[in-house]
Amino acid sequence: KMTADELKNFLMNVVTMIEEQKEYLCELDRKLGDGDHGVTMSIGWQAINDKLNDELKYEQDCGKIAIMTGRTFLSAVGSSVGPLYATGFMRGAKAFQGKTEVNDVELKDFWVAFVEGIKERGKAEVGDKTMVDSLQPALETLQASFDKSNNFVVSFTEAVASAYQGMESTKDMLSKRGRSSRLGERSLGTIDPGAASAYLILETFLKTMN
Ligand code: ADP
Ligand code: MG
Ligand code: MG
Repeated sequence: KMTADELKNFLMNVVTMIEEQKEYLCELDRKLGDGDHGVTMSIGWQAINDKLNDELKYEQDCGKIAIMTGRTFLSAVGSSVGPLYATGFMRGAKAFQGKTEVNDVELKDFWVAFVEGIKERGKAEVGDKTMVDSLQPALETLQASFDKSNNFVVSFTEAVASAYQGMESTKDMLSKRGRSSRLGERSLGTIDPGAASAYLILETFLKTMN
């Protein structure tokens, strides 16, 4: 389970993580795209940080926190990840609606809706060398493991391991989406920046739960 304050802790931990990984994410994007992925993520998460310290300071509705996170990200970020994460958080928010504390099933439902929302919005598939290569294996593992264990932390731990493998698998992929798709063979050998940040966000969630 997770309380509203723990949810806000997770979001603040992502803010810190993104600042730490900003240069690394830009470096990956310099090899594949326009070099700004660390910067675009930082802009979005800093805007979320501002909301957490202002409008969301005393908010206890997990659904409202998730919706506001999505909306804030959308209005702050101009790059391709803006509408993707915004959709993820806004879809996921439905599982948290009106709840000051969420249980294991609701947490699982949040992440399932989060990933489904991103897939629907971006239309990328596994193998396109995007964040979906981290998120889809995580989703599949989470669902299968949760069906067996009914324990969110157990299944999310396994999901993060799958996301890591998915992220690593993007090294061997040719880019088919976004700016890097124009690179062709030159996109081989580098992890997709969006796959890296997606994995890091899931890992940060797991760390917050533990
Ligand atoms: P931009 O490409 O506009 O500069 P960013 O650098 O912030 O945006 O983000 C690039 C990342 O966005 C890519 O590494 C990829 O993982 C992700 N991405 C781009 N297009 C899509 C899409 N249609 N579906 C899923 N992820 C995508
Ligand atoms: Mg970029
Ligand atoms: Mg850009």
